[in-house]
Amino acid sequence: MLQYQRPTGTLDTLPEDQHYWDHVRARARHLAELAGFERIDVPVFEATELFARGIGTGTDVVDKEMYTFTDKGGHQLTLRPEFTAGVVRAYIENGLYVRPQPLKLYSFGPTFRYDRPQAGRYRQFTQFNAEILGEQDPAADVEVMAMVWDLYDGLGFRDLEFQLNSTGCPRCRPGYLAVLKAYYAEHIGEICEDCRRRLEHSPLRVLDCKADQCQPVIAGAPHFLDHLCDECTEHFGALREYLDLLDRRYTINHRLVRGLDYYTKTVFEVWAAGIGAQAAVCGGGRYDGLAEILDGPPTPAVGVAVGLERIILVMKDLDVDVPPTPTPSVFLAHLGPQAKWEELRLMDALRQAGVAAWIAFGERGLRSQLREADKRGVRYTIILGEDELAAGLATVRDMKAGEQVGVKLGDLVEWLKARV
Ligand code: AMP
Repeated sequence: MLQYQRPTGTLDTLPEDQHYWDHVRARARHLAELAGFERIDVPVFEATELFARGIGTGTDVVDKEMYTFTDKGGHQLTLRPEFTAGVVRAYIENGLYVRPQPLKLYSFGPTFRYDRPQAGRYRQFTQFNAEILGEQDPAADVEVMAMVWDLYDGLGFRDLEFQLNSTGCPRCRPGYLAVLKAYYAEHIGEICEDCRRRLEHSPLRVLDCKADQCQPVIAGAPHFLDHLCDECTEHFGALREYLDLLDRRYTINHRLVRGLDYYTKTVFEVWAAGIGAQAAVCGGGRYDGLAEILDGPPTPAVGVAVGLERIILVMKDLDVDVPPTPTPSVFLAHLGPQAKWEELRLMDALRQAGVAAWIAFGERGLRSQLREADKRGVRYTIILGEDELAAGLATVRDMKAGEQVGVKLGDLVEWLKARV
């Protein structure tokens, strides 16, 4: 047992996995920019109060999952468990609401939740996050949904489908909650301890309960969609029409309420097979009230958070082909100190010319250097020894063909540049 191990629920991403990450980030960035999203980076930690107000006390994220600490100055800080609260804070603090609206912002980065680790569920994970701020048109909801759909589709995911619901607005929510609570009051003896507590603090969350004993009660629960106000009904209807129009499949899921308090109207997730019980590869929705909760101007908004680790698990499961990260295709082997000097200069000239190369370290025999070149999988090995220096030529070994040619030292950079 090693004394030093990575903390529970964290991952090392080794070099051989980086190409998946590069590929997914590049695809996400490309799709975001196609839709006019601009990048924003916000701190990895924020004042604890921001998340407590924004996400809401009573949610699992705030009550159970935050990495909170007091710094040396006595400030209460929290490693971000999600992006939206920080992005909306930055939107207000930097006065971004005076720019032409809507403003479309995307981010990438680590997020932290004290979750129960298992396959696809970590305590540090990476999100691609996108928000459209300052727009209430359901077409904006569809735009973020279509973007993540295209991300999954382009990465080779099959059988895509949104889980879709509406969680209403401050006008219709109290009415629905009253109906829901009345229904639960009749079944209070049948539900779990947690749900009894949820009914007090975050009643919508009872619909999300995984406990076996609660399933029949949830199945008979009234649907929010039957209790939406006219505005929310209209929004949801238009959203469905637009999704149909763009051929993005969805299924209405009356139990989908999501874990964060700030959602209004649209909530959605995409589930994927191949990552066990942790099926959601993204989640999002509309949060028209959040900016005001954080003392900003009224700002209707919609966003999505995509978990990148889960995407990569699915890609591996589906055997998605991803171009490998390129490695140098030239190896510089040398015999004797003078040849080494010449090759250090050559290495430098190759880098200036944009040609990636390895140089042999230490003083070794040619056989050992060629073995290294072979292991590194290069196309060409340059061999310089006393004879080559005297003739002003380098021996260039084509590692695939096993053939060698002499190339004038002065021409070598151009010769290699033309071939790799
Ligand atoms: P949420 O806001 O909880 O819906 O999270 C948004 C997305 O982040 C989810 O759909 C997952 O893809 C990802 N995610 C959330 N929690 C975790 C976790 N503990 N480990 C890995 N990915 C996560």
